[in-house]
Amino acid sequence: MAIKDQPQPSRARQIGNILLLVSGLFLLANLFLPNLFGQPIPRVPYSLFIHQVQDHEVARASVGQNEIRYQLKGENDQPGAVFSTTPIFDLELPKRLEDNGVEFAATPPPRNSWFGNILSWVIPPLVFVAIWQFFISRGSGGQQGVLSIGKSRAKVYVEGDSGKITFADVAGVEEAKTELVEIVDFLKTPQRYIQIGARIPKGVLLIGPPGTGKTLLAKAVAGEANVPFFSISGSEFVELFVGVGSSRVRDLFEQAKKQAPCIIFIDELDAIGKSRATGGFYGGNDEREQTLNQLLTEMDGFAAGEQTVIVLAATNRPETLDPALLRPGRFDRQVLVDRPDLQGRLAILEIHAKEVKLGKDVDLKAIATRTPGFAGADLANLVNEAALLAARNNRTAVSQADFAEAIERVVAGLEKKSRVLNDKEKKIVAYHEVGHAMVAVVMPGSGKVEKISIVPRGMAALGYTLQLPTEDRFLMSETELQGQIATLLGGRSAEEVVFGSITTGASNDLQRATDLAERMVTTYGMSKVLGPLAYQQGQQNMFLGNEALNPRRMVSPETAEAIDKEVKNIVEAAHHQALDILKENRELLETIASKLLETEVIEGEELNNLLNQVKTVESPVAVGT
Ligand code: ADP
Ligand code: MG
Ligand code: ZN
Repeated sequence: MAIKDQPQPSRARQIGNILLLVSGLFLLANLFLPNLFGQPIPRVPYSLFIHQVQDHEVARASVGQNEIRYQLKGENDQPGAVFSTTPIFDLELPKRLEDNGVEFAATPPPRNSWFGNILSWVIPPLVFVAIWQFFISRGSGGQQGVLSIGKSRAKVYVEGDSGKITFADVAGVEEAKTELVEIVDFLKTPQRYIQIGARIPKGVLLIGPPGTGKTLLAKAVAGEANVPFFSISGSEFVELFVGVGSSRVRDLFEQAKKQAPCIIFIDELDAIGKSRATGGFYGGNDEREQTLNQLLTEMDGFAAGEQTVIVLAATNRPETLDPALLRPGRFDRQVLVDRPDLQGRLAILEIHAKEVKLGKDVDLKAIATRTPGFAGADLANLVNEAALLAARNNRTAVSQADFAEAIERVVAGLEKKSRVLNDKEKKIVAYHEVGHAMVAVVMPGSGKVEKISIVPRGMAALGYTLQLPTEDRFLMSETELQGQIATLLGGRSAEEVVFGSITTGASNDLQRATDLAERMVTTYGMSKVLGPLAYQQGQQNMFLGNEALNPRRMVSPETAEAIDKEVKNIVEAAHHQALDILKENRELLETIASKLLETEVIEGEELNNLLNQVKTVESPVAVGT
């Protein structure tokens, strides 16, 4: 927490900026020098000039390629006003001038003033130096405890920093911590692994919504292993100039290797690692692609061994990443850093509450209960808000009432980002998830239910039911596929049974159920009506990316209609099965759902005992009838 991510503008940077500004002004001045340092000469149209010549008003003219300057006849032979005009290509001009008695000559080559001359020599290098200064200074954000690297702009946190972060500072993400403990071990005693011939992983990808502690975890790994920590954000790689990103990557890895063992942390990996297939127009972003390629090259290049450099990266949009990044030898380890459950929130609150003075009436457990969907950063923010409120009210310690008010403030902020469920929504999600689980236990092919949770999970889902397949399956029977479809519809069916209405929360379930049913009909030939024909082409369209997967074969309109009808039949049959199961077990549905509302997560033995009570329903409906 002593480490800030944003470098302060340094003195060097300020000087660089000023230099840049000054030289820019000079440049502008130089452009307009003739006007600034010469006399302003009024411009007239060429036609007027010709008229004046014909009317014998012009005394003398100096004819240049781009400009004619001329003087009108004054009174008493005194020189009159000077004008300027832009000539039109006119071969008759000399003759015309002569005929009208104008004294004329060609303009001599321009003779700049000594001042302008010197300026035009001095300014370009000055601008150059200023720009150079500017970039150098940006590289060295002079900040305490942070050594900076010129080109890569990565920030390095060296061991022994006052605010060293360890795993004790991170809570509520136990699974992620367990995985990362291993990485710490790799960094501490690489010999142990090398000696036995094990390959030390090079890349670990931390996946999770914003504010769940990905950056914090990466720092904690470095802190635990006591190694330097290079941190850079993906968006910092991709800059104005083509080629800068890839040279930054090269530079970063060079620096890191010198300090090995160490950690490189790339935040916002998606900024450079976006899938090339989904990049819009092809050739869309060359710079990003070059940077990505360089990153891949570097990761392939260094042999984990003598130099233990482990690359940690974070993203909250894993689905957009280029698959090349996830191949073995690159970010082949993926660690989910998700929003904390009740226990986790309590633990996080305890960590952050240490920084403030708590009143005697503060009940952190109660606060944790009231903050489902809060990520670690939201909880840290909550504690701080409460402390601010207490201070504003001249209290010496933070009271429970301050927390209550702070929750409201933070929730109001989060609701805009639509991450927090109100009580009604929480209830719906609970029934929905229990619905999935109950259908899953009695239907074939649905795997074992490991965990039900109403803690908002990942980026989109409101709650989730975690199923693990009991064994690796390559072949699925028709009834098993039906079972899966019924399970997918279990959530929506529970909403129907309990509330009589349905919400938008099931859209992803429906999508997946429909896809599965469609595949049964068009790919696996499981429909009696359509027979064992494949109506789908398994080819991936190389240019359009994933959206264009599995386009339907050209089929006659009648066949298309028949396919749609079959798909609908399968899904509806499964829907009825799900409804039957839930209606039959209505009481149990209530029991499990209210339990889930209380604890937010049910898993393990307890879940098994509850789900074992689900009664199967006879007379499953056959497909296609
Ligand atoms: P992310 O990188 O996932 O967006 P950060 O690691 O930047 O999130 O978290 C921001 C801050 O929120 C941290 O510095 C810390 O104070 C707090 N925080 C987030 N997650 C946790 C957690 N799991 N345990 C303790 N504090 C956390
Ligand atoms: Mg972060
Ligand atoms: Zn669902």
